[in-house]
Amino acid sequence: MDFELTEEEKAFRESVYQFSKKEIAPESSKPEYDEKGEFPWECWRKMGEFGLLGLPFPEEYGGQGASAMMTVLAKEGFALGGADAGLTLSWGAHTILCGVPIWKLGTEEQKKKYLPKIASGEWIGGFALTEPNAGSDAGSVRTYAVKKGDRFVLNGSKIFITNGPIGRVFVTIAVTDKSKGPFGISAFIVESTFKGFSVSRKLDKLGNRTSPTGELAFEDCEVPEENLLGPIDMGFAEVVKYIFMWERSCLLAPAIGSMEAGIR
Ligand SMILES: Cc1cc2nc3c(=O)[nH]c(=O)nc-3n(C[C@H](O)[C@H](O)[C@H](O)COP(=O)(O)OP(=O)(O)OC[C@H]3O[C@@H](n4cnc5c(N)ncnc54)[C@H](O)[C@@H]3O)c2cc1C
Repeated sequence: MDFELTEEEKAFRESVYQFSKKEIAPESSKPEYDEKGEFPWECWRKMGEFGLLGLPFPEEYGGQGASAMMTVLAKEGFALGGADAGLTLSWGAHTILCGVPIWKLGTEEQKKKYLPKIASGEWIGGFALTEPNAGSDAGSVRTYAVKKGDRFVLNGSKIFITNGPIGRVFVTIAVTDKSKGPFGISAFIVESTFKGFSVSRKLDKLGNRTSPTGELAFEDCEVPEENLLGPIDMGFAEVVKYIFMWERSCLLAPAIGSMEAGIR
């Protein structure tokens, strides 16, 4: 098997490296962002313009149609150029944890509504799974959703949510049939403007401080039925399948880029 990068792949990685080095690193690495735990908004806007935020989505939804390999190379090049690690973490939660499930499982209406805004960076995305009593054991989430008329009503809380304090749209995991265990858990697209949604706390962290992390509260949060993502009761299993395929590959790439920067 040939592990060499193609000329196209090398050129793409180099272009993201140059973009990061010239346009992102000088700003995002200013100490005040890290000290204050502030999100570098101007860098985010530039990342959207450059096409990084919707990299893997099809072009018809505002993306670049990049393969998983190209996405990994972009993340490597971005870190190699010296971009702040928190910004890379927020990018991952936004594009991979929120955008990819919508792209892979969403209805045509959902894809048209959300993916272009995620690709441009106009709306920041996140993924709300973890709860105070459900971390590694993700199947034991307690946030639940009950169907009432043409909407689902969500109650519960989420913790450690990347982009929580600044996000506009969250792929949110909630129990829909407790009797079915992990096969009774669904996924919903929840907008931060929906009634009953709130950010209950912004969390302070030791590292990746430019990436805002927060706690989310769902108090009789009303989610239109058309915002169910994937099949009822099986949305969680489906979302996790796609997230693992993409996120596991993409999560490590910035670390490789940072290590290469260190060696250089
Ligand atoms: C910076 C940051 C960003 C995050 N962003 C998000 C996000 O965007 N969305 C989201 O949903 N979540 C997010 N999380 C949460 C993350 O997914 C959880 O922290 C993770 O799933 C672990 O859960 P926990 O923290 O409750 O630890 P626990 O599950 O309580 O684990 C604590 C320790 O116990 C060990 N352990 C657990 N179970 C076992 C076992 N059965 N046997 C042996 N050892 C075990 C673990 O390996 C770990 O070392 C984020 C977390 C961090 C730190």
